[in-house]
Amino acid sequence: MVDIKGNLAKVAATLPRDVELLAVTKFHPVEALREAYDCGLRRFGENRVQELLSKQPHLPSDIKWHFIGHLQSNKVRQVVGRVEMIESVDTVRLLNIIDRESQRAGVVSKVLLQLHVAREETKFGFSVDELMDFFENRGFESLSAVHICGLMGMASNTDDYERVSSDFREIARCYNLIRNDERFGLCGFDILSMGMTNDYEIAIREGSNHVRIGTAIFGEREY
Ligand SMILES: *Cc1c(COP(=O)(O)O)cnc(C)c1O
Repeated sequence: MVDIKGNLAKVAATLPRDVELLAVTKFHPVEALREAYDCGLRRFGENRVQELLSKQPHLPSDIKWHFIGHLQSNKVRQVVGRVEMIESVDTVRLLNIIDRESQRAGVVSKVLLQLHVAREETKFGFSVDELMDFFENRGFESLSAVHICGLMGMASNTDDYERVSSDFREIARCYNLIRNDERFGLCGFDILSMGMTNDYEIAIREGSNHVRIGTAIFGEREY
């Protein structure tokens, strides 16, 4: 048996006060989520629409769900209004679809833009240039039902400490550039979501204020 409560205490002890914890619950059964809930966790992350929708009815309604996986445009409608935040917006096109579906549903969707800096070609996200172009071209101005709350990113999947920290540093650099640029005049752009079980301590050192942790809390996933 995985000691969720004990694991959580260990993780919590390593987190500075101003760093928010998202418990990544993908592939774990509803009972495990319930146990984490009973320990006081309220922010859960899932990466597949079907799994999210099938778990939600079995759990208390005050959970704040974050969607953290690649979101297909034809599934946006199923997610809008049902999650606190979509952290994995990886194209302008998806952003605009979320805006349209949010208007239609009469809600404002909070999102993070996912920045791709890691070496792996398979990872989704904006390149640094695409991201900066989006802000330079004031792409955010046409959104009426989406609130961009910050950035999400992952480091390369490697044991190379220098590589991981330089990936996080690059994401943090973009975040601060956008956040501090008075021309953009963004308000509530204040979430920098980086760091998972194996690298969150490095991410925090590089400025993360929102970590997404699964394995360290729930144990290995059984796919
Ligand atoms: C699975 C996942 C995590 C958590 O990974 P762990 O290594 O189990 O902590 C974090 N972020 C995203 C986007 C994920 O898909």
